[in-house]
Amino acid sequence: MHRTPTVIGALGALLLAAAAYAQAPASEVEAHIAAARAAAGQEYRATFVNLCLPAAPRGGGPGRGAAGPRAGGPPPTPDRSAWYASPFKVFDNLYWLGTRQHSSWALRTSAGLIVIDTNFAWATQPEILDGLTTLKLDPRDIKYVIISHAHGDHDQGAAELQRRYGAKVVMGAADWESTLQRPATAAGGVPARGAGDVTVGPEGTKITLGDTTVTVVPTPGHTPGTLSYVFPVKDQGKTVMVAYSGGTLTGAFGTEGARWYEYIASQKKIAGVAAEVGAAVLLSNHSEYDGAYTKARLVPLKREPGEEHPFLVGTDGVQRYFTVMAECALASKLRLGAK
Ligand SMILES: [Zn+2]
Repeated sequence: MHRTPTVIGALGALLLAAAAYAQAPASEVEAHIAAARAAAGQEYRATFVNLCLPAAPRGGGPGRGAAGPRAGGPPPTPDRSAWYASPFKVFDNLYWLGTRQHSSWALRTSAGLIVIDTNFAWATQPEILDGLTTLKLDPRDIKYVIISHAHGDHDQGAAELQRRYGAKVVMGAADWESTLQRPATAAGGVPARGAGDVTVGPEGTKITLGDTTVTVVPTPGHTPGTLSYVFPVKDQGKTVMVAYSGGTLTGAFGTEGARWYEYIASQKKIAGVAAEVGAAVLLSNHSEYDGAYTKARLVPLKREPGEEHPFLVGTDGVQRYFTVMAECALASKLRLGAK
C-alpha cells in the first residue's frame, strides 16, 4: 500500500495545478497555445514550435538568420553537403528548386516561368539555374521573380535573374524601399526597380503570365512588405489551388503591439482568400514549415488508388496552418505584454 499516498499526492498536485491554471493570467496565453497546438497536429509541428515556443532551440541550417542586408557583405558559401538538394517537379506546372532548408519555386505558364522566392545568392546557380535545366526548363524563360519578403534567404537571387534574363521583380512597397537601400556590394547585388518591375501596395495585385494568374496578397508583419499568394497548379490535369505563406517568424516583434496586430490580421486575410478560392495546398519558403524537401521527392512515386498528392493537405489543412500562425502570435503578444 505504498502507492495510495503517491497517487493521492499526484492527484492533489494535479487539482492544485488545475485550479492555478484556471486563475492564472497565463491561462489566456495557454488557451491560444492549446488552439495552435490542436491546429498544428503533427503536420505543422515545426511552425508551432518556432512560433509558439520561442525559447525552444530552432532547427539550424546554413546561413540561418544571416539575412543578407543586415549581414553586411557576401557571406561565404556554406559546404554544399549541408544544403544541396535535387530539384523536383511537384505539380504538372510547379517545380521545387530548393535547398534542404529554403525553397524557390518555378511556376510554368503558357508564356514563360514565374520564379517565387530566390534563396541565398550562392544557391542561384546550383539550385535555381541548374535545377531548371535538369528539369528541362530554360532559365531564359523566367519572366517574373516574385519575392515574398526582403530577407537574404529569400531574395538574394533576384538581382541576378533580373540582370541575366530581364525578369521583372515583384515586391511589396516597403520591402522594395529597404532593398534599394542596400549597398551594391550586398550578397547577390541589388535588383533595380525599372518600369516593368512591380511594387505591390496594400491593395495587392494580380500577376498574369499567359494562362496563369498569381493573386498577390500583402501580409505585412514578418516584414512590412511581406507578400503571400494564391495560385492554381495542375495535378495530373486537375486544377488545385495553392496558398503560399510569405513570412513566418515573429521573434523580432518585441512589445510593439501594432506589429503583432498587423501580423495577426495578415494571417486572417490570407486564410480568408485561401478559403475563398478553396486552396488545398499549403506552401512556404522554408521546408521546415511545409515539408517541401521531404514531400518533393515523394511526388514521383506511384500513387495507390485513394492516395493523394503528397502536398495536398485539403482546405482544412490550409486553414489550420494560418490558425497556428495567428494563435501563436496572439499567445506571444500576450506573453510579452505588447499593447
Ligand atoms: Zn524572413
